[in-house]
Amino acid sequence: MSRPVFRFAPSPNGFLHLGHALSALLNADLAKQAGGRLLLRIEDIDGTRCRPEFEQAILEDLAWLGIEWEQPVRRQSDHFDEYLAALERLEKAGLVYPAFESRSEIAQLVEARELDTGKDWPTDPDGTPLYAGKARELPEGERNRRRASEPFALRLDMATALARAGRGVSWREEDEDGIRDVPTHPERWGDVVLGRKESPGSYHLAVVLDDALQGITHVVRGMDLFEATAIHRLLQELLGLPAPVYRHHRLLLDRDGHKLAKRTKSTTLRDLRASGWTPADVRHAVGL
Ligand code: GLU
Repeated sequence: MSRPVFRFAPSPNGFLHLGHALSALLNADLAKQAGGRLLLRIEDIDGTRCRPEFEQAILEDLAWLGIEWEQPVRRQSDHFDEYLAALERLEKAGLVYPAFESRSEIAQLVEARELDTGKDWPTDPDGTPLYAGKARELPEGERNRRRASEPFALRLDMATALARAGRGVSWREEDEDGIRDVPTHPERWGDVVLGRKESPGSYHLAVVLDDALQGITHVVRGMDLFEATAIHRLLQELLGLPAPVYRHHRLLLDRDGHKLAKRTKSTTLRDLRASGWTPADVRHAVGL
């Protein structure tokens, strides 16, 4: 049987903190226990927030922790053509459409809908209002004309996607206690953005393609991405990609009960190292 393949997939938009250390060490430990491989992927498709110096810092911090990963490291910004090809496939299959509203126009549409209905407009599991526009209904001529000159987002046509993939899609979630099937409700996310004119590929699309292209069998990541797995499973079904096993681990919280963020400077691995912490101290602090 082939060996299990794990991956750690940070975004270089800040320094790694204790929450990342938990994720990276857990991936490394589980890969070792399973006699598997560990890959590293740099998720840098958001060119406005990602910087090469953070990528360098990630490599240094992981090496300091004692983590070993296979070469080559996959960098998402080197693979835009692959994301574009997948978007084109989805669009040809009638599963994706361009929407032309700006973020502020979308906010105005939501406000107008709330006034009309007297009810709060529904939000996705991350708290963002669902897409309230009607770009899906634009006549083809207008769509093509506007596409040539205006910025646009490519959105998944969720209703058509669900009709094609069926509603019974689930994923396998594994933890210390065993493995269970989690039913998905991707409709909770509405018509999610899968790409933009200036950037062919969103986190959701890129993560799904990369996991498949890298042969990932086990996705171990934070609980904050648990709900997003519904979108990932749907995309895997639509694109005919294999489904890894998932494990969403607990999140580390700060004193106020918020998820640790890159801006919480006091817990970056660099600062902890500079103040004399050892990798063993990090392991202990994250509960491994
Ligand atoms: N790049 C994502 C992050 O840094 C992780 C994505 C994943 O593990 O699927 O939060």
